[in-house]
Amino acid sequence: MSLKDILIERIRTVGPMRVSDFMAECLMHPTHGYYATRDPFGVKGDFTTAPEMTQMFGELIGLSLAQAWMDQGAPDSFVLAEIGPGRGTLMADLLRATNKIPGFHAALDLHLIEASPALRAKQRELLGEATWHDDVSTLPEAPLFLIANEFFDALPVRQFIRDGDLWRERLIGFENAQMCFGMGAAADQPMLRHRLEDTEDGMLVEICEAMPQIVQTIGARIQDHGGAALIIDYGDWRSQGDTMQAIKDHQEVDVLDIPGDCDLTAHVDFEMLCAATPSRFSRVTAQGVFLERLGITTRAQNLAEQMEPVQIEQHIAAHRRLTHPDEMGNLFKVVALYPDGQVPPAGVEA
Ligand code: SAH
Repeated sequence: MSLKDILIERIRTVGPMRVSDFMAECLMHPTHGYYATRDPFGVKGDFTTAPEMTQMFGELIGLSLAQAWMDQGAPDSFVLAEIGPGRGTLMADLLRATNKIPGFHAALDLHLIEASPALRAKQRELLGEATWHDDVSTLPEAPLFLIANEFFDALPVRQFIRDGDLWRERLIGFENAQMCFGMGAAADQPMLRHRLEDTEDGMLVEICEAMPQIVQTIGARIQDHGGAALIIDYGDWRSQGDTMQAIKDHQEVDVLDIPGDCDLTAHVDFEMLCAATPSRFSRVTAQGVFLERLGITTRAQNLAEQMEPVQIEQHIAAHRRLTHPDEMGNLFKVVALYPDGQVPPAGVEA
């Protein structure tokens, strides 16, 4: 039975489902989920992410976090964590780039938060010893230096369409032998009251219900014990419109077409993310600006000097892709969480 058949069966027996339940099944169903069962990254896979394009991404993030560790007095024991590490590439680049920073490696304890068994195996292959967690709640009570790249966009969102001062939830049903979108009854949504000020009738907004609890836990560790988190994702201060996107073989496909067989993501609402942390948070900064501040162009030139001519073209393309406003430079944003009384990590501003 395909995941599509499983979902259709479920809709026929219990009725239309929330977009968030659909997304959760597509990504993490134990036997058919997209992340749960495979390694989707890279040129041969369905999509590629910043750390898979160039080693510079993980290196610069490593230097920013290591600088933050030094700025906070270089605690002699801390948790270095990544949430949603994919293949582990970013962490491998980060560890290599920080190898020569005195005391950093001796002090760190590596923790990875990963829900996919297939990707945990990949991470173990590349990174060796680490502690894996199902979610952030089991991270030790200790200074926490954490990275999240394209993690929050993989969390399921609910979608609501404005109807007067009420909202109708967008649901997935089954009609004329196929899955289709429909709408639930109009109801008040306390979580969306602040969106009455910037939306009109018929507009769609999204909420990621799983996000606040995760951010709250990370922010509390940082506020209580010190540390910093760099959160990088696509999205904006307020998410608006239907941003759910399905990708297969580097092409956009219909979100209902091949459930479990394509990547599904939605933009991150950085306002909701920042509202959830008990720590300080930086300004939301465009990825291109963040990477330029950390010196990506100088690093790119240094690396280019040691490259064969055949490698240079791809190297220049990766640099452009990460930083140029027409590519990922503006669409992707960076926000840092850090404790009261400390400066934000390099690359972002208070
Ligand atoms: N950071 C990586 C991978 C991004 S893809 C990169 O930049 O290449 C999203 C990652 O988050 C995958 O590793 C996926 O398995 C993981 N993930 C998705 N939902 C999760 C959840 N609820 N809990 C833990 N990990 C999750």
